[in-house]
Amino acid sequence: MNSQRSNLSSTLHSLDGRSYGNYKQIRGRYEFGPVTVFIDRVQVDPFASPSKVRIRINRAEAGFPTDITTERADRIAVSDFLFRVGNSFLHRTDRHAIILGRPGQEVLERTNVVIDDEGFEARLLVNLPARGRRILGHQAADILTRDVPELAQAMFVHANLATSAQASDGPTRDDSGNDAQDDSSDALREHVQLHRDQLELQNHLGEEDLLAFVGNGAILPRRSGDSDLPMDSRAVAFTSPSSLEHTVTLSSGRSLTGMAIPRGVTVIVGGGYHGKSTILRALERGVYPHIAGDGREWVITEPSATSIRAEDGRAVTGDDISPFINNLPSGTDTRAFTTTNASGSTSQAANLVEAVEVGARSLLIDEDTSATNFMIRDERMRALIPAEREPITPFVDRIRPLFTRRGVSTVLVAGGSSAFFEVADHVIALDAYVPQEVTEKAHELVGVDPAELEGASPADRDAASPASPVNREDESADDSGDMFAAPRPRIPTATALRPSSKTKSAKAKGLGQVQFGKAFIDLAAVSQLIDPQQTTGIAEALEYMAEIFDDRTSLTDALAEVEDMLDAQGVDGLTGNRDHPGHVSRPRPQEIAAALNRFRGLRLVE
Ligand code: ADP
Ligand code: MG
Repeated sequence: MNSQRSNLSSTLHSLDGRSYGNYKQIRGRYEFGPVTVFIDRVQVDPFASPSKVRIRINRAEAGFPTDITTERADRIAVSDFLFRVGNSFLHRTDRHAIILGRPGQEVLERTNVVIDDEGFEARLLVNLPARGRRILGHQAADILTRDVPELAQAMFVHANLATSAQASDGPTRDDSGNDAQDDSSDALREHVQLHRDQLELQNHLGEEDLLAFVGNGAILPRRSGDSDLPMDSRAVAFTSPSSLEHTVTLSSGRSLTGMAIPRGVTVIVGGGYHGKSTILRALERGVYPHIAGDGREWVITEPSATSIRAEDGRAVTGDDISPFINNLPSGTDTRAFTTTNASGSTSQAANLVEAVEVGARSLLIDEDTSATNFMIRDERMRALIPAEREPITPFVDRIRPLFTRRGVSTVLVAGGSSAFFEVADHVIALDAYVPQEVTEKAHELVGVDPAELEGASPADRDAASPASPVNREDESADDSGDMFAAPRPRIPTATALRPSSKTKSAKAKGLGQVQFGKAFIDLAAVSQLIDPQQTTGIAEALEYMAEIFDDRTSLTDALAEVEDMLDAQGVDGLTGNRDHPGHVSRPRPQEIAAALNRFRGLRLVE
């Protein structure tokens, strides 16, 4: 083993001063005690993307308890913990040539650190050092034969976690080795338990017909517009309105009290700057589990919840937006609506029907990012413009049947209009960040008999009387009962994702863009895409789906196939390069669909 170490070391020393291309001879596998280092790919010049290196330790040497490293979900949590430990180790020791990836506030499934039945593995990117185009061999030897194996020791040897994790958490309470060891195992166990509890609570939402849970004490606001860290002591902690308060006791014994948002229609009102959008943004993020200390640990949203906004300028291919838009002056068929440049209202309609198409069971909508004419139309405007001259049936007329006929719930922020009072199951008013339930008062104001709303649940969809305001959609002449019947599946052509001009693999460009052949897919408006590694995952998923489409497979079936593969193989399965997949996180099917839907080259089988 030591001979291998000195092999790599002496090779690197001897390469000092030679031209950069000579680095390629260090490709291979090296043993450093219990640590195996794989140099999978060597960059060709100092400015190319960094070299790909893996470190691996087998289970016996790593010495982690098996009860938290066996279940798939636990492995994700432990990987995330070790990812963070490794990161702070690199940071603390100023080892900037080694890149492990950048963790955020959420726990995501990612390729950076993985646990399998045999052992623990981290995938690194390493910038091999140079002066001009000459190899800095002595430095490279330090990086690859000292720093990289030390990183593996720090992350993957359970007994070392204390020292590694300690420094990352700042000063420790206890300097004696044993207690620190216990502390760090405790921190790991707590990390896993938090993740388990969050997933259990998310499952509980489904069982109880709830859409989201916001725990009392949660800190929803962020430090600043460009920071995802919790706001400091100025933050007002969340407290549930008593009428929506719900206590859940989890199998761990942990008991949580907070606001339970039921399925149906929930409207959040309140004065400007009173925290409405902040709650909605927390719910958007609540589809992902958050780390301890984030403030949103107990903000849990059902996993398919999708944020819907206006996004004028986007391309739309063959969407059935006819529940919202009909009789366009151009004569365009809105049952298969295609445009290269959607308006505010048509883009929001497209975003909505696409979300429902991939299985969103709830929609999160903020007035701040909505097209007003998509959302509402007031009575005077209804009187002035005859229905047949107005292509748009506003969302306020559709929000109720969307729930009763398709089972799709909505949480809506609407501070500027009372229009949604009559279709809301719950109205929550924010006053200086403190929520109160004001449903009764809101219903009184608009003269709604709550009993009629109660009846309008998916189970007994015809119970509401046709005259009730909740059925206002029935006023429009062209409406039919199956308006929200599932639209016909959209089937991309076999070549849609294989344009002949495309010679390179799809590639993420930061968080908000994917380069696909000559085209760029703009994802800036997709707010639940939260990590650039997910964007990389989307790029990989598009390549994966290019293989699936065959003129017969629908978009939703292809996405389901991707999901099944991801469940079975993890994120590694997305990438063609099995040895070192790079840094990729798992995107939700909603965000993969968002990219496909925004791809301007998408073509459908007629
Ligand atoms: P609205 O959508 O009602 O206009 P926002 O949600 O945009 O309001 O919040 C307005 C400001 O108040 C933001 O700067 C936000 O960070 C801050 N804020 C939101 N919630 C809280 C809270 N619970 N405690 C302290 N500040 C908050
Ligand atoms: Mg707002």
